[in-house]
Amino acid sequence: VSERGAAVHRRAKHGDEITVLVTQMCVLVHILATATVIDVAIIGGGPCGLATALALSKATCLHNAKVAVYETDSFAPKGASIQISKAGWSAITAVDREAASRIRATGSPVTRVSFRSLDGKSLTPKPLTLLVLLVSLAFRMLRLFGVRRGITRTHTWHDVRSTLAERLRERWGADVIQSGRTLTAVDAQSADAVELRFSGREEETVTARVVLACDGTRSAVRRLLPGEPGDDLLVNEERSVWRGIAPAFSTRGEATFYKDGAGRSGLVFPAGVGQGSSWSLIAPAAEGRAADPDEARRRMEAALPHGIQLDATLRKAIDGSPTVLEHKLVVRDFDNHPWTCSVPRVAYLGDAAHPLRPTGEGTALAFEDALTVGMLAAQADSLDAFCVPATL
Ligand SMILES: Cc1cc2nc3c(=O)[nH]c(=O)nc-3n(C[C@H](O)[C@H](O)[C@H](O)COP(=O)(O)OP(=O)(O)OC[C@H]3O[C@@H](n4cnc5c(N)ncnc54)[C@H](O)[C@@H]3O)c2cc1C
Repeated sequence: VSERGAAVHRRAKHGDEITVLVTQMCVLVHILATATVIDVAIIGGGPCGLATALALSKATCLHNAKVAVYETDSFAPKGASIQISKAGWSAITAVDREAASRIRATGSPVTRVSFRSLDGKSLTPKPLTLLVLLVSLAFRMLRLFGVRRGITRTHTWHDVRSTLAERLRERWGADVIQSGRTLTAVDAQSADAVELRFSGREEETVTARVVLACDGTRSAVRRLLPGEPGDDLLVNEERSVWRGIAPAFSTRGEATFYKDGAGRSGLVFPAGVGQGSSWSLIAPAAEGRAADPDEARRRMEAALPHGIQLDATLRKAIDGSPTVLEHKLVVRDFDNHPWTCSVPRVAYLGDAAHPLRPTGEGTALAFEDALTVGMLAAQADSLDAFCVPATL
């Protein structure tokens, strides 16, 4: 468009008015053909973005609104497994009971817990051993009667996300999720709307009245908007984390926590119904970053203590994982930087707003944010009332 604009300018100088008119019409047609105008753009189709869209689908004032979730990937399986805390279940149940019950059905119950050193020595305190045994026996008995209960449930991140996506499409149609769309530019100069540019199958420009940034820890919205803190919002925890899923290795309901005296910790637990086991390993930060999953695996092996035989459960889980993911642990700088965005029509939610240590509460906070935005929409009398910047 800017190239065409420059051409218009050059031709205008030479007085070729007909060419100017035709070129201007071309520009207009081009803009109309490529720009999509919507009310609410949700950036990121992770648990937060999808639950937020689901929450908005319940608000009367948004029934005729144009809402879309833009997700960079294709929703193919990725990530590892998570457990959703009690607060998370309350929030997602309040957002949509049906989605909560379908997510619950994807969870593997954890019926036993143990603590070990990385080389497999038991660290479970003696009094706890008996209690753990009794609790696990109780869960086994319940299972005989068809009741699948546990201390908690674990789900693959992919199952959580695809269940939410399925439910959202049921409520708002297939087009509500635009996959394969990567946010590449944000222009917030207009007072009435924010212009977003996406790459993907084709370049697309979207004009939105409200933008909800649910695009994770390294939020593209936060990095692309001038004046925002970008990744300065993040505090480096000086830890690397590796994760994976071993589809053919089952821990039979057991979750094992590992630690050593050199700042390493680990976890192996059921991945989700029929999905084998999931594991994570945290160690002092490894320099640089892995270029691909094979390099991630090599870097993780190098970060393990030398000269010991790794606990058999952890070893089987690692070796049974086709892919190893590597991240650096970062958290939000909770003391500096405002919670609101400097652009009034934009709000950060989920990990984009408050990345945490992996304490098992990240998804809960994402669902609570979704519920809160849904409540704001439910309180608004009209679409216009919801789309005013003051709401955010
Ligand atoms: C090691 C580890 C263990 C964890 N364990 C747990 C646990 O047990 N329980 C728990 O509750 N939480 C856990 N978490 C945290 C949890 O995964 C997150 O809090 C949760 O996924 C946040 O959801 P979200 O939707 O805000 O962000 P994300 O899940 O990060 O989703 C963001 C989405 O935005 C998309 N996106 C990114 N950039 C763009 C772009 N430019 N354009 C379009 N789309 C984009 C991404 O593809 C992604 O789908 C853990 C995290 C880690 C690192």
